[in-house]
Amino acid sequence: MKTTNKEEQIQLAEDALLHVYNRYSLVLDKGDGVYLYDTDGKKYLDFAAGIAVMAFGYNNQEYNDALKAQIDKLLHTSNLYYNVPTATAAEALKKVSGMDRVFFTNSGAEAIEGAIKAAKKYAYTRDGHSGHEIIAMNHSFHGRTIGALSVTGNAHYREPFEPLMPGVAYADFNDLESVKAQVTDKTCAIIMETIQGEGGIYPASKEFLEGVRALCDEKDILLILDEIQCGMGRSGHMFAWQGYGVKPDIMTSAKALGCGVPVGAFLMTEKVAKKSLAPGDHGTTYGGNPFVGAAVTKVLEMMERDRITDHVQEVGAYLSEKLEELVAKYDCLTAHRGVGLIQGVVCTKKVGEISAKALEHGLILITAGSDVLRFVPPLVIEKSHVDEMVEKLSACLDELS
Ligand SMILES: *Cc1c(COP(=O)(O)O)cnc(C)c1O
Repeated sequence: MKTTNKEEQIQLAEDALLHVYNRYSLVLDKGDGVYLYDTDGKKYLDFAAGIAVMAFGYNNQEYNDALKAQIDKLLHTSNLYYNVPTATAAEALKKVSGMDRVFFTNSGAEAIEGAIKAAKKYAYTRDGHSGHEIIAMNHSFHGRTIGALSVTGNAHYREPFEPLMPGVAYADFNDLESVKAQVTDKTCAIIMETIQGEGGIYPASKEFLEGVRALCDEKDILLILDEIQCGMGRSGHMFAWQGYGVKPDIMTSAKALGCGVPVGAFLMTEKVAKKSLAPGDHGTTYGGNPFVGAAVTKVLEMMERDRITDHVQEVGAYLSEKLEELVAKYDCLTAHRGVGLIQGVVCTKKVGEISAKALEHGLILITAGSDVLRFVPPLVIEKSHVDEMVEKLSACLDELS
């Protein structure tokens, strides 16, 4: 291929791809550890991890070798037959989550679709009729497909695509009374992120999560926790709900589940599975093929062996401390939220301008909601990387003030 300059590379993409992203003016070429390099060879410290995906950073030899070995052996079979890597991955995921049944998907949105279908089928089996409703949260994000969009609490994302899936009511996150106000005798599930990600990094309060769990138990409503962004070690627990001691009936995972290989999952307890999706109710051609099975197995093995959650708690506490210092120092930073390596800082300046400026300083930083700088780095970052990020971010803030 002939070499082109950055403007030509960007033009090539803009001429061919559907324009649904206003992308940063950055053409990424390769990654190593917690650093990325653009096609000009410029180095960037990565505090985004491809949106909370690349838990082990880039070019991890052990992970790469596991994938390469599986490519040479068997990539795909369909779900009409058994294969060992997928069964091994499901077993490992059951073990770390304490859930009983796993269905692998190709993305987060598809995991949400499956979770919704699982909840509806459970209520249908129990009651002998359809017409059940779901309660979702304001400011939530669950994905872009029609079902996932239907439970996403952002009217701006939903409006052009209405009518969406009917029977969804919205409540306020961390407000138990507002959830109770939406419950009817048709409610089959309550869906929420344990820590809201795209909406601006809002962790559920313990009282809220416990209150919703008690409400669900009382009325046989299923609690669906979306752990797509906050799960897989990011909160300092393997799944964020484990830190609250509040177990869902159905859980979704994706993003760091495959650490770069497109894979998601929805999981449920045996109680739900017994009355839920049965042969003929659900399926996927790619989902959970041997290739992603090998990736998930390796990711879970490495996370457990390397005690990733201990590391996240330690580095996460350091990141909290440093972000608090920044909030104290800069007038434009007004609040700090989050735990582990899913944290955010509220900013009165245009956050898009700050993340663009950060690129000039060799820092990849993303935003959440309209006014939050989001910190979701690879889980393997060290304290020295936090210091490096703070230095670069401070330089941006100084220049923009
Ligand atoms: C990213 C995300 C999704 C959607 O995942 P995709 O793989 O983009 O479809 C759903 N829920 C949460 C909490 C997410 O962060």
